Amino acid sequence: MATLDNHLPTNELQALDAAHHIHPFSDRAAMNAKGARVITRADGLYLWDSEGEKLLDGMAGLWCVNLGYGRQELVDAAARQMSQLPYYNTFFQTTHPPAVMLSARLAELAPGTLNHVFFAGSGSEANDTNVRMVRHYWASLGQPDKKTIIARKNGYHGSTLAAASLGGMSAMHEQGGLPILDITHIDQPYWWGEGGDNSPAEFGLARARALETEIERIGADKVAAFIAEPVQGAGGVIIPPETYWPEIQRICRAHDILLIVDEVITGFGRTGNWFASEVFNITPDIMTIAKGLTSGYLPIGASVVSDKVANVLSEKGGDFHHGYTYSGHPAACAVALENLRLIEEEHVIETVATKTAPYLKEKWQSLSDHPLVGEARICGMMAAIELTPDKAARARFSDDSNVGITCRNFCFDNGLIMRSVGDVMVISPPLNISTSQINELVGLAFKSLDMTLDVLTKGGLMKSAA
Ligand SMILES: *Cc1c(COP(=O)(O)O)cnc(C)c1O
Repeated sequence: MATLDNHLPTNELQALDAAHHIHPFSDRAAMNAKGARVITRADGLYLWDSEGEKLLDGMAGLWCVNLGYGRQELVDAAARQMSQLPYYNTFFQTTHPPAVMLSARLAELAPGTLNHVFFAGSGSEANDTNVRMVRHYWASLGQPDKKTIIARKNGYHGSTLAAASLGGMSAMHEQGGLPILDITHIDQPYWWGEGGDNSPAEFGLARARALETEIERIGADKVAAFIAEPVQGAGGVIIPPETYWPEIQRICRAHDILLIVDEVITGFGRTGNWFASEVFNITPDIMTIAKGLTSGYLPIGASVVSDKVANVLSEKGGDFHHGYTYSGHPAACAVALENLRLIEEEHVIETVATKTAPYLKEKWQSLSDHPLVGEARICGMMAAIELTPDKAARARFSDDSNVGITCRNFCFDNGLIMRSVGDVMVISPPLNISTSQINELVGLAFKSLDMTLDVLTKGGLMKSAA
C-alpha cells in the first residue's frame, strides 16, 4: 500500500484522486482530464510537486501561510500540545489553557473593545456564528425582527450555508438554493471595474450610500448587521476608495446596525498592521478571523466580539445554543499562540510595513507599464492586476476568452503560483518574503504576462496599438 513518505508515482496518485477525491472549487471533469497537480513538500516560500518542479507560492497557500512553510516552531508547538492534551472541548463550562491564553492574546491584539472570542474551526464557521450571534443579540434586546444582514456582491465569507449566503458570489448562490432568508447584498466599491466616469472618491461615497438606501428599503428596525471585508480578497483584491469606510461607519451608527468586519485574509499582518481595521480606521462590533492566525498550519477560526455585544449576551442572552466540537481546539490554539509569538519576535509586521510592502508596491506598480495591465493595485502584501485589451477604456475581455486562466497557466509553467479571479491576477505571498524573492516574483509575473500577451495578440484579442 501507499505510504506518504514514499508516495506513488504521479500518474497513479492522479488516477486514485480522480476516482475517489471530490475537490473544492474544481471542475471535476476538466481537472481529471489532465490530472490534478500533486504537491508533495514545501519550504520557506517554495512548493515542490510530485515531478520535482519548484514553485514560488505567490498566494501563501490560500492567503494563509503567512510565515511560510517549514516553520519547525509551529510543528513543535502542535506536537507539544498534542502530547499533553490533544483534544478537549470548551462546551458545558469547561476550558483549557491554550483556549484561555489565545483568547486573552487576541483581546490584546484586536483593536478597540474587541475583547471576547468565540472559537470555530474555520472562517466559514466563524461567519455562521456571527449570523446567529447578531440575531441572538438583537433578540436578547427585545428586537427579534432585527435580523436581516446586509452584505456585498462579490464579497467572500466562506462556503457553509450561511457564510456562502453572506458572500456575494453569484456562481455559489446558483448551486444549492442560496442565499438563505434575510440576507441581502449591495454593490461593491470596485472602482476600476464599475466606477465609470466617477472619481474614486465620488464612487466610494456612492457605494457606501447604497448601504443607507438598502437599510431604508428594509427598515432599520429589521436590519441586524452589515458585513464586509476591509479589502475584498477572493473577489480580486478590491481596495475601496478612501471615502468608503468612513461613510459606511457613519451609516451603521446612524441606523444602529452592527458592523461585522471579515478580516480572515486581512488579519495578522497582511496589510502591514495587525488588522486592516487599523489601516482603514474601522471600529467593528465583531471581527472574523481565521487563515493567518495559525499561518494555515492547523485549522481554526474565530469571532472576536466587542464589549458592547458580549455584555448584552452575558447579561440577557442566557445559554448560546451554538458550538463546534473543535471550538478552541487545543493544538490549533497552541499553534496560533506560537505563530503570534513569532510574528512579534521576528518583527514581521514592522518589516512588512516599513520595508517589504513598500518595495513590493514599487515593483508591482511597474507592472502597469505592461500593455496587458489596466491597473496594478496593492495594499500591504495583497495585490492585483487587471488584464485588459484596452487600458484607456478600462475594457474587459469577453467571458469565454479565459484570459486569466491562460495567464495563470503560464505562471505555473514558469514556476509561480499567482491566482486568477476572472481576468484579475492576484497575489498574497508569505509575509516574510525577501526583497530578492519579490524581484523573482515580479520577474516571473512579467514573463507570464508577455507570454499571455503574445497568445492574445496572435488571436487578435488586443486592441491594436495603432
Ligand atoms: C477564506 C475566507 C473565509 C472562509 O474561511 P474558511 O476557513 O475557508 O472557511 C471567510 N472570509 C474571508 C474573507 C475569506 O477569505
